[in-house]
Amino acid sequence: MTTDVITRPAVLILLGPPGAGKGTQARVLEAKFGLVQLSTGDLLRAAVAAGTPAGKAAKAVMEAGGLVSDEIVINILRDRLAAPDCAKGVILDGFPRTTVQAEALDGLLAESGQKINAAISLEVDDSAMVARISGRYTCAGCGEGYHDSFKQPATVGTCDKCGGTEMSRRADDNAETVASRLAAYHEQTAPLIAYYDSKGALKKIDAMGEIKAIAGGLARIVTEVTS
Ligand code: AMP
Repeated sequence: MTTDVITRPAVLILLGPPGAGKGTQARVLEAKFGLVQLSTGDLLRAAVAAGTPAGKAAKAVMEAGGLVSDEIVINILRDRLAAPDCAKGVILDGFPRTTVQAEALDGLLAESGQKINAAISLEVDDSAMVARISGRYTCAGCGEGYHDSFKQPATVGTCDKCGGTEMSRRADDNAETVASRLAAYHEQTAPLIAYYDSKGALKKIDAMGEIKAIAGGLARIVTEVTS
């Protein structure tokens, strides 16, 4: 349930390697603050499933754990940001992932007189990421995320949120691809931490603990940067 609606449209970025919990935490913030979670990974997976030209171009890169071209991702993000629901404010999960994308985002927001409220870096140990990623799965009905070890539904096999019983695992959530995805993060995305720090927009949070505790810390940051 939405408890703390933000009245001015906010733009928040969650930064962090694959497995840091960006998707999980974005969904919590979405529910708590009435923001829209915008995941370029989800948008790309939908494009792949729909067989669009962008999806066809992205498929092999995603399966290999590399980064899809800036041009494709920026176009997808631009279209999604223009949808009316995004006027409530957005949490970007998995975007930007390169400096080119970060600059494009600044430009897109400037067109409507906006700028980001904060880029929040979820700080985690790489060594824990493989276990986190390889155990995760999602409710096919509502997208709620679960994990074999860290977050099982109350009744195994049944989604707590929507009661669905079809669960799916991502094709790229395997040990080999995870190594490539972590490498792509360190080479191309981690420099964004310095990028946002230099703009005075960086916040950091220790994201190695319990999901609920991290969510509480994030909510405090969001309240601070949006009030
Ligand atoms: P995610 O769901 O965020 O883990 O993304 C899954 C995959 O989609 C990544 O490994 C990339 O191949 C691709 N992807 C998602 N977002 C981006 C982005 N902003 N830039 C480039 N590739 C992306």
